[in-house]
Amino acid sequence: MDLTWSPEDEAFRAQARAWLEENVPRPALPSGDTREGFALHLAWERRLHEDRWAVVSWPEQYGGRGASLWQWLIFEEEYYRAGAPQRVTQNGIFLLAPSIFEFGTPDQQSRILPRMAAAEDLWCQGWSEPGAGSDLAGISSRAERTERGWALHGQKIWTTRGAFCTHLFGLFRTDPESKRHRGLTYFLVSLDAPGVEVRGFGRLDGDEGFAEVFFDGVEVTDDDVLGGVGQGWSVAMATTGSERGLTLRSPGRFLAVADRLISLYKEKDAAGAVADRSLREHVAQGWMEAEAYRLFTLQAVTSIVDGAKPGAESSLNKIWWSEMDVRLHDTALALQGDDGELDDAWMRGYEFSLSGPIYAGTNEIQRNIAAERLLGLPRG
Ligand SMILES: Cc1cc2nc3c(=O)[nH]c(=O)nc-3n(C[C@H](O)[C@H](O)[C@H](O)COP(=O)(O)OP(=O)(O)OC[C@H]3O[C@@H](n4cnc5c(N)ncnc54)[C@H](O)[C@@H]3O)c2cc1C
Repeated sequence: MDLTWSPEDEAFRAQARAWLEENVPRPALPSGDTREGFALHLAWERRLHEDRWAVVSWPEQYGGRGASLWQWLIFEEEYYRAGAPQRVTQNGIFLLAPSIFEFGTPDQQSRILPRMAAAEDLWCQGWSEPGAGSDLAGISSRAERTERGWALHGQKIWTTRGAFCTHLFGLFRTDPESKRHRGLTYFLVSLDAPGVEVRGFGRLDGDEGFAEVFFDGVEVTDDDVLGGVGQGWSVAMATTGSERGLTLRSPGRFLAVADRLISLYKEKDAAGAVADRSLREHVAQGWMEAEAYRLFTLQAVTSIVDGAKPGAESSLNKIWWSEMDVRLHDTALALQGDDGELDDAWMRGYEFSLSGPIYAGTNEIQRNIAAERLLGLPRG
């Protein structure tokens, strides 16, 4: 593999870096999971879109630059390097959009993608239910056939930023006789529709973006079905592949955390404040893991560019980035000793990193998938 960037890619990097240096909000925005922070993040997302940095790898007709996947990775490195805000549009642009490109009709693509890119429509993910988390095929939300389309009934839970979003993508059972993975359909639903009730609730860290979403006879049509009636499971698996694999967690995010960790170590060391010298090794290990993830991603992008489709390997990505993130933050807190808990940025990052092994499918489930589908071991 040739790891040298082309002159065109280097020029793209320089352009992205210059724009970000000039435009990234300072001081950093408050959390996008609070109502006030979310509004500020939206203004930022719209600024990105105005100058066509919101969805660089999308075709121009939908608001992108038609950039290559390599350039998208470069943009992400620059984005996190510049300390730019977390993307509150991420569940739309990084999770749903790849599935709209793959399974959407031309009408759905032109109706949904430009408004998503412009942060006009904000999408949340409706998989989990009170009785179905790891066991997603156990969902009980259903869609009943009506004269005009479908009526949705049921409840979703743990809907990230559901309290602030305008639309939801989710799975509903359309065949009442079906069991497990069969008979499910992937619907695209407006949260303004009559019969939808969104109840936001707070998290332990004080943020309030989570919601429970209730559906009581919500009318949708066949135009709101993504990928065909009864095909929901395979479309949903493509979406979760994006969440676990390439698009949601680009290496830039972790390289930036590893760089901040190195700076923190140097600062503490210069002040003679590193009591435990073994932390030096943890810092080096953290940087190596972030770099290894970058190389692994470059390899994955190479195969995608060569025509491969991301499959069960995305479970390995997910285990790697989520556990690495906990270790990087844990090392930063250890370096600060008792003061660590007072450092808001590292402490909040640490708290959020602890949820990484749970969301996007728990790491126990990812290990089951890797054991069965990559190693061919018998079912546990
Ligand atoms: C920060 C955060 C954001 C989230 N955002 C969303 C969202 O936007 N949309 C959405 O739909 N959901 C969201 N979720 C929910 C998330 O997908 C679920 O929490 C997750 O899938 C686990 O489901 P559960 O909580 O019901 O736990 P359970 O499925 O009840 O699992 C409990 C424990 O049992 C283990 N376990 C279960 N089955 C097995 C098995 N077969 N083998 C081994 N171990 C097993 C699990 O690994 C876990 O440790 C979010 C969760 C978090 C923490």
